Amino acid sequence: MIKSFAAATLAALLATSAHAQDIAALKAQAVAGVEARAKLAQVLNDQIFSFGEPGFEEVETSKLITATLEKNGFTVKRGISGMPTGWVATWTNRVPGKPAGPVIALGSDIDGVPRTSQKPGIPWHDPLVKDAPGHGEGHNSGNPLNIVAALAVKDVMIREGIPGSLMLWPGVAEELVAAKAYMVRDGVFKDVDAVLFTHVDDNLAVSWGPTSGTGLVSVEYSFWGETAHSAGSPWRGKSALDAVTLMNLGWEMRREHLRPEQRSHYVIKKGGDQPNVVPAEASVWYYFREQSFDGIAKNFEIGNRIAEAAAMMTDTRVTRRILGTAAPRHFSRPIAEAAYANIQQVGLPKWTADEQAFARAVQTNLDPKKVEGLATELDKLEPPAEEPKSGGSDDIGDVSWVVPTVTLRYPANIPDVTYHHWSAAIAMATPIAHKGIVAGAKVVSMTVLDLMTSPTLLKEAKAYFTDVQTKDQKYLPMIGPKDAPPVTINAEMMAGYRAEMRKLYYDPAKYPTYLDQLGIKFPTLKK
Ligand SMILES: [Zn+2]
Repeated sequence: MIKSFAAATLAALLATSAHAQDIAALKAQAVAGVEARAKLAQVLNDQIFSFGEPGFEEVETSKLITATLEKNGFTVKRGISGMPTGWVATWTNRVPGKPAGPVIALGSDIDGVPRTSQKPGIPWHDPLVKDAPGHGEGHNSGNPLNIVAALAVKDVMIREGIPGSLMLWPGVAEELVAAKAYMVRDGVFKDVDAVLFTHVDDNLAVSWGPTSGTGLVSVEYSFWGETAHSAGSPWRGKSALDAVTLMNLGWEMRREHLRPEQRSHYVIKKGGDQPNVVPAEASVWYYFREQSFDGIAKNFEIGNRIAEAAAMMTDTRVTRRILGTAAPRHFSRPIAEAAYANIQQVGLPKWTADEQAFARAVQTNLDPKKVEGLATELDKLEPPAEEPKSGGSDDIGDVSWVVPTVTLRYPANIPDVTYHHWSAAIAMATPIAHKGIVAGAKVVSMTVLDLMTSPTLLKEAKAYFTDVQTKDQKYLPMIGPKDAPPVTINAEMMAGYRAEMRKLYYDPAKYPTYLDQLGIKFPTLKK
């Protein structure tokens, strides 16, 4: 009995070490496949950068990415969740005599940010098109990363007869957190075993558990009153703008009595027509952010009450429309640990003296007291903070509550730039971004192979999802069955810039890089 137990253990150990050797060889093939596609990554990255398209306007971006994937054997489904720029691309390797294998989904955002147009490789503010949207968050880099990772893995799967499916999908309008919850609701992830999401950063990193930051609900309140002559008969008017003003005052008073971790902000979208006409229509758009589902719901309720009170005070009527939501994020521990082991093998890119000098020039212009260059040491994989910090949101949160998910952060940007600002666009079509994408793609390709070939890892990821993450907290979607993504929200803004921006689209047939097309020497350090 003991003897056969020992024999079984020995056999299992041998099998494990054989698996470890096999998987190392497979990963080496994938890494070589990524390196061989560095040019493809650069061309896609620079093109998407030059499109500079904000949420729901990612027309050229989605056209380019889906065409690239179709050319490489993926099947593309378009118009996902009623979004003209939404799509899902899948490729399946069926191996006779073997079961179907897992479905691994690779996602990354694709949208730009209003007013962040910026020439790449110029370390001061110099827009491509004045006031136009641009990639002041670096979302141009994630899909090029996922594509080269997927194509490298696809080659390995075919060569080695590994069954399974790869699914690529875009974070449409992430800056409006206005797409992923709808995709979740519509079942896009129902057959997916694991999601590897990627997001630009200045280091190569993953995390697990509840993250820092917040979730949110994005909602527009519209007030409806009545016009009148503002001087002749103001007593006949009902001012919708007064209602907006009162709502904002009410919220500002209430703000002091909310948890300090909440974040909330608003912009007035409509304030009336002209001063001598009492505004009959006005609207204000709020983001209510908190760290838990309950916290978000509670603040949303307070906001709704204040809106109704403001309507009462002004004899106006209020309607509301949800424009987007993001669940608080929770990432898979087993997948994060597997990804981190790959991160340690890949390491940070070897930055050249020119790249470091450029990063320092950018940092010096932003804050001469904070000049550290590019990252040369890997961040650590640490357990979640006991009291996570507050901050931004990402609607990958919604995905993370229905499938085991991690976000891989990759070093395509410069530390200490300001996101949602032109400074975060500077590096995003330079050698810094190009190298960061290749490093990230290596980690993704290796982690996909871990998931494709190790049933244990998938089992552990499922166990963590069921027994830890969702044990006491289930997913609480904040959109209803009839809510729809606000797909025209940036149409008017984009109509004003598209023609000018189009003149500056990168043409890879004529120029090796976008910097070459723009005649920008790298590194440019001084005016
Ligand atoms: Zn982002």
